[in-house]
Amino acid sequence: LSRIGVLTSGGDAPGMNACIRAAVRRALAEGLEVVGIRRGYAGMIDGDFVEMDRLSVSNILQQGGTILKSARSKAFRTKEGRERAAEHLKAHGVDALVVIGGDGTLEGATRLGEEHNIAVVGCPGTIDNDLFGTDETIGFDSALNTALESIDKIRDTADAHDRLFLIEVMGRDTGFIALSCGIGGGAELVLIPEMLTDMGAIKERILSLMSSQSRSSIVVVAEGDELGGAQKIAEALREESAFDDIDTRVTVLGHVQRGGSPTARDRVLASRLGNAAVEALLEGHSGVMVGIVNNDVKLTPIRNVWGRKKEVDYDLLQLTALLS
Ligand code: ATP
Repeated sequence: LSRIGVLTSGGDAPGMNACIRAAVRRALAEGLEVVGIRRGYAGMIDGDFVEMDRLSVSNILQQGGTILKSARSKAFRTKEGRERAAEHLKAHGVDALVVIGGDGTLEGATRLGEEHNIAVVGCPGTIDNDLFGTDETIGFDSALNTALESIDKIRDTADAHDRLFLIEVMGRDTGFIALSCGIGGGAELVLIPEMLTDMGAIKERILSLMSSQSRSSIVVVAEGDELGGAQKIAEALREESAFDDIDTRVTVLGHVQRGGSPTARDRVLASRLGNAAVEALLEGHSGVMVGIVNNDVKLTPIRNVWGRKKEVDYDLLQLTALLS
């Protein structure tokens, strides 16, 4: 092992920069050379490589986004695409990779590693927190705090007018962000994809909340909710005459949740994982993802990570109902 590549891929997440920095600095400290691969696998296929030194990662720890840029690449899903990528890696003398991204990124890395004998270690970077093998993913805590800040603000205006607000948060087909936002923001109801949702029951629940307490209500909706998101739910509610007197508003938080400076928690997590990824490569591991489980670094074979769903904590779901 003498020269490693680092890249970020898939959806960007706050904390990716902290992870890049940690991986680069640890590798340099071990006497390795580091190449940054820009725009994820798309850049790997194009040979968009840049030499990294200590200075190239200074002052990035606190920045959102990713200095290496991220992308999605259709070509990398094909054998030919990965062949071209591997040729560039070999031409640049790169014999190992640290990849930072979600499950698609990890799956792509494994294929590349196996087909072309390149050592790969993954770091879980996604705001969705949907990766098996780590208690939290890089970016989750930051996205959560950003969403929570917005929910608090919406609560003020909802309260002033006794309004019903449906607030849609990110999370793809999982409800991790929604569930934690719901608890942290004191939502009256949380709707997540993991839960079978019955429109009739939702209407009843909201009506009873709004009438018995004659106050504002906040419903947090996960974007992958099976009823089709906050807008669709609001439309369904407005069709009912019982909702004629309820001022119903929708806020879709969207991409704001991806941006901003990472929280302390994400900075520490990302720094630990970037360091652990290089350590794993030095120890001769490949095809593994580094994660933190019960506050310890844990390596999980990537093949066990993809396609395996991490379960949300159903106790939290009950808690929202108990506390509303
Ligand atoms: P997020 O969860 O934040 O969206 P992700 O890493 O899951 O992140 P994807 O778009 O699924 O995002 O994957 C990123 C890239 O990884 C894809 O654009 C593609 O280049 C590569 N990739 C994904 N799945 C595969 C696969 N089965 N084989 C090869 N490459 C893949």
